[in-house]
Amino acid sequence: MIPAGTTLTGSYDPFIVTLSVVIAVASSYAALDVAGRVTANKGGRFAAWLTCGSVAMGIGIWSMHFTAMLGFKLPVPVSYDWRTVLQSFFVAVLASSLALYLVSRKKMSRARAMGGGVMMGFGIAPLHYMDMLAMRMRAECRFNSMLVAMSVVFAIAFSYSALRIAFYFRDTTTEARRKIGSAFFMGSAICAMHYTGMAATTFIASGVEPDLTQSVSVSVLGTIGIIIVTLLVLGLALLSSLVDRRYEAQAFQLALAQANMELAYVGRAASLGELAMSIAHEINQPLGAVVNSASAALRWLANEPPNLQEARGAATQAVRESNRASEVIARIRALLKKETPRMGRLDLNEVIREALALAGNEIAKCRVVVKSDLSATASTVSGDRVQLQQVLFNLIINAIEAVNAVKDGPRELRITSTTDSSVVQVSVEDTGVGLGQEDLDRIFHPFYTTKRDGIGMGLSISRSIIEGHGGQLWVVSRSPRGAIFQFTLPKADGAE
Ligand code: ADP
Repeated sequence: MIPAGTTLTGSYDPFIVTLSVVIAVASSYAALDVAGRVTANKGGRFAAWLTCGSVAMGIGIWSMHFTAMLGFKLPVPVSYDWRTVLQSFFVAVLASSLALYLVSRKKMSRARAMGGGVMMGFGIAPLHYMDMLAMRMRAECRFNSMLVAMSVVFAIAFSYSALRIAFYFRDTTTEARRKIGSAFFMGSAICAMHYTGMAATTFIASGVEPDLTQSVSVSVLGTIGIIIVTLLVLGLALLSSLVDRRYEAQAFQLALAQANMELAYVGRAASLGELAMSIAHEINQPLGAVVNSASAALRWLANEPPNLQEARGAATQAVRESNRASEVIARIRALLKKETPRMGRLDLNEVIREALALAGNEIAKCRVVVKSDLSATASTVSGDRVQLQQVLFNLIINAIEAVNAVKDGPRELRITSTTDSSVVQVSVEDTGVGLGQEDLDRIFHPFYTTKRDGIGMGLSISRSIIEGHGGQLWVVSRSPRGAIFQFTLPKADGAE
């Protein structure tokens, strides 16, 4: 029997101590992993992960402390008051749930990590001392206040860094190596905290028989049992986390596939819509002209006496317009069949004259004065006649409509062509309403229109036609009023 007042010298069971370190590292790894799951889930799943994660982590932290205590051998028999041990377990679960909750929040400011660290530190440090107070033996514990304070500081510092590390890792799934490294760091911090607490305690033999009611003694087998259960729980937590992550990845893939399908559908619908719009736009213009010419022919015929010559002219114009409409349809069919445009050598000046002739009725109706300066001497380009006619016709009709929208001032449309060594440049200039800065940026977008019955496809189609021919189409404001649309086309090979 050891005389009362003797300081008891304890010794550590290296096997159990090693296992306690393993538990510390495994708990830390599980904590980092589970933190990611708590963050990734919402609602009921968030609550479930928070609860189960806290219990698993709580078991880990508590078991690490308790097994480390069991690995410490004193020369007197020791048993434990199970109520205090249970309380220490609840403290561990509470500290874990606080940690997981904080880590799952949107932000982890320094202040929040500090506040959380202090709260957790004050939770984890007593856990250790509670386990000591649970000891029932013929000895009493005396604490070195300096070292106790240090163990609390350790607990706070550990909790602070654990929060920050876990917050950092919560979103990363790939960096397993860094996660393991951090788990080792956190595990060592937990051990440092525990063994500082042990160093702060001196056991003095008391000679007083302990109160053994409500107390249990834990055999080596029991200790190993605790360790195995703990590792199993932590393993289970990691496995659930893995399954949850797989499930999330699958759900993500599914959502991605669905989004892609929807996108493809929208894209197809949009291009069909665009196509329908452009067909309507391209066909409507010649059809409108047919109606105009045919009405003019009827008017000439209704005259007393009928003016047959004018009527013939208007009817011929109607036939020409109809032919153009059917050519447009043929071109669109070719486009749908993915046929390449009919490229040939063209005199661009001639195409301009044709387009002006096509717009003749509108020009006359709106009393627009046309000035053309087709001075490009070598204006041969390689292109599709119908497509280029469409572009010019579109620019001319737009210019006429712009001029028609103003009541006073000159009503002019000027078309010029010039050449340099590599390109032919055409400009269509009007004294119409002109364009604001905002319009300059947007008029080439499909469906952009300021007209009541406009479709807003003409310019976007024109630009794609010109670009398809290797040229460029742009617009500038005209001073004091109006707009200048210009495009370039590369000269045909061998053109002067
Ligand atoms: P739409 O003629 O059906 O509106 P466009 O693509 O041809 O479609 O033209 C788009 C818009 O660009 C027009 O609604 C008009 O606001 C503007 N715009 C085009 N040409 C001119 C012009 N010469 N002067 C002023 N605005 C123009």
